[in-house]
Amino acid sequence: MCGFVGIVASTQVAPELHIALQALQHRGQDCAGIATMRADGHEFFAHRGLGQVPQAIPAEALATLDGPLGIGHVRYPTIGRGLLRDAQPFFFRQPGVLMAHNGNVTNYQELRDSLRERSIHLLSQCDVEPVMCEFADALNLARRTAHTIDDAMQALREVRRRVQGSYSIVAGLMLDGRPTLMVFRDPNGIRPAVLGQRGSGEERAWICASETVALDVLGFERVEEPSPGEALFLRAGDPPIRHAIDQAQRAPCVFEHIYFARPDSMIDERGVYQSRLALGQALAERIASKGIAADVVVPVPDTARPAAAAIAEALGLPVREGFIKNRYSGRTFIMPDALTRISALRLKLNPLRSEIVGRRVLLVDDSIVRGTTLKRVNALLRDAGAAEVHLAIHAPPVLHPCFYGIDMSTEEELFARRFPGDLDALEQQAAAALEVESLTYLPIEAMNRALPGPRCAACFDGRYPQQVDRDQRQSIVEDRRQRD
Ligand code: SF4
Repeated sequence: MCGFVGIVASTQVAPELHIALQALQHRGQDCAGIATMRADGHEFFAHRGLGQVPQAIPAEALATLDGPLGIGHVRYPTIGRGLLRDAQPFFFRQPGVLMAHNGNVTNYQELRDSLRERSIHLLSQCDVEPVMCEFADALNLARRTAHTIDDAMQALREVRRRVQGSYSIVAGLMLDGRPTLMVFRDPNGIRPAVLGQRGSGEERAWICASETVALDVLGFERVEEPSPGEALFLRAGDPPIRHAIDQAQRAPCVFEHIYFARPDSMIDERGVYQSRLALGQALAERIASKGIAADVVVPVPDTARPAAAAIAEALGLPVREGFIKNRYSGRTFIMPDALTRISALRLKLNPLRSEIVGRRVLLVDDSIVRGTTLKRVNALLRDAGAAEVHLAIHAPPVLHPCFYGIDMSTEEELFARRFPGDLDALEQQAAAALEVESLTYLPIEAMNRALPGPRCAACFDGRYPQQVDRDQRQSIVEDRRQRD
């Protein structure tokens, strides 16, 4: 999972990119970068660094990032090691292209080998680099210089033909002699992207970002989500120019609503906070039908709060903060290696004994991937004096790995896969493994009712919207193993 933003305006964009990246910080904390282009397209500037945005791109670096077009990125590695050389945005010298993305290119190795055969070599293990190289190579084959939107479309069709996987991409380059922000998405639109505008006439500026929170902080108005399989060309003061490449069944990632996106974002025309309330309401029905008795509802902060509030309301129970979160420690799930995850949890959550001691706690969390974090959270509750712990998860069991940009374990690491049988049997065995009194998942049918519409839910139902062949799976799994 990563976050991106691109802005084209009539003024300097680097300071606003910096602010937008801070709004997207939850999407990746490994490294961050900003790259800009001068209005004449002759000079490019970039600063990339490790860590969160303020550390990775210090204020003094912003003064060096000149130009009215720029793109920014926060990275959590799904392919590659999370080293500085893997930090985005990337730059290709000829004809001068900046590029960043969110997603996962599933045929990365094949692209790398194919580029090598053409004597084009990669400097990183980041999967947007071969996409950028393919695009630049195809663009230069279309015309050596003075590129047009038609040339870019020809190159994008080539990219579409060669590149597999999920991608929402922003790029900056000169087209028709003008600084142009180019946006394109994979044909299923798996990873999110949203377009916004601000101002009018010649002052009209455009933004494209992973989530609407980046628009909100800068006063941009949300316009639309670029369609899957579509390319948009954006220039300051002009309306967008759109071209279709190809489109398949829309399949936006359902996990954005469950866990990844900020609750104040809007994704797939729907507020993420509302989605989490709906998931909580649906889960409350199942908890009630199982006759689970509790005294207090406690969310695992922060993602589970809306669902916990909805469950408490539906069941007529009080909702309380059972943990105080240390906001200055990292987000455990997206910290890149197992050791960091374990030590980070100790830093992160401190139980609030007054709300827990002697009570039957209904603990609400968004999902279970490996199960290690929840086992430790349960231990924290017991140590703090909870009489019983009943676990409620506002998603179905995660049974399949994600190959589309979410670092969601290999098959053998997925907690729910250890337990055979139907949902009831799985819940009983999983509760015993986590040492809680009961465990209630949201059935997949209930999730589909709460969040209607076409979606990718492959990590729950195994129905992958894009084919990922055995070699590609193996290569992604190997990469994850090396990182853990
Ligand atoms: S497999 Fe799961 S996490 Fe991955 S894109 Fe699909 S719904 Fe999202």
